Amino acid sequence: MTLGEAPSAPGPERWLACEGPVVPLSGAGTGSGRRRQSRGARRRTMTVTWLDGREPVDFGSFRDAVELAERHVEPGTRVEHALWTTGARLDDTWCRFLAERDFLVGLSADGTAARRLLPETARRLRRHGVGCNVLYPVHAGNADEPVDAYRYFRDELGVRHVQYIPVVERIGEPRRAGGTAVSARTVRPEQWAAFLVAVFDEWVRRDVGRQHVQIFEQALTAWTAAERRPRPPRAGCERLPLYCRCCPVLFACGGGSPGNRFVTSPHGEPGLDYLCAGYRQFFDHIDQPMQVMAALLRSGRDAAEVMTVIARYEHERQAAPNASASGRATS
Ligand code: SF4
Repeated sequence: MTLGEAPSAPGPERWLACEGPVVPLSGAGTGSGRRRQSRGARRRTMTVTWLDGREPVDFGSFRDAVELAERHVEPGTRVEHALWTTGARLDDTWCRFLAERDFLVGLSADGTAARRLLPETARRLRRHGVGCNVLYPVHAGNADEPVDAYRYFRDELGVRHVQYIPVVERIGEPRRAGGTAVSARTVRPEQWAAFLVAVFDEWVRRDVGRQHVQIFEQALTAWTAAERRPRPPRAGCERLPLYCRCCPVLFACGGGSPGNRFVTSPHGEPGLDYLCAGYRQFFDHIDQPMQVMAALLRSGRDAAEVMTVIARYEHERQAAPNASASGRATS
């Protein structure tokens, strides 16, 4: 299975916060990548994202393509590369080159073949010092083990970047019939919230600045912007149901994912994200630590200091009952 074929995950372009061109390593689409490059190349730093499709691409062709891309950017522009791949062809030769060019390699954990390949590929990348970004689909079958999964990638595979993708699969003829039925594999809103909350609670206590979890870092960006400009309007918000437009966490949630907006809001409006209740619960939960991190960043400090703040707060909270108990005992 290639990344682009993953049945329950969005297309690769939606997975990537890509500033520059997206370049399929095989098949059609190189032309559009080149068009996008002309826009992205105006930036001082440009990210080129390479998609490893079904057709085998030999190492020599890949190296030539990377060198060609680097030769065609504006002088002074720093090029960063990202590669999305199954990992099937990443032998030591590839890995040495990826390390030399400072690639961030995206690996999917979706599908049996991908999951089988992933641990060995991640370890090989780690041995060569190549950054690895795992795309982890969260479905009904794995959503109840959030921290185990998070620690596995962090501690056993040494993965520093993770993107969690909620699996939402509509069944029947949903679009024509306006149906809202979903498959048994679909993650439920409360599961999605519990998964994110559990991982966040681990991350915010020990991994801020060390582990990169896309939804947390995007949320921090939203909180930091919202601190400066409350509730900034987002493109496309006018098409969201009123329930979203009045939502206190719209600035972070953005109304969820367009592909999942197929349920009706409590006010009877269509177009609400199936996972809305999960997003609300999650964004409510992270509000305080996000405010702390945003304040730290605003004052020129490191967001990772939030870990000290939380540790001190929890220590004081634990000590408080003992203190009052001993106070009572001595009075
Ligand atoms: S949490 Fe729900 S209501 Fe709020 S913006 Fe997201 S989808 Fe809309």
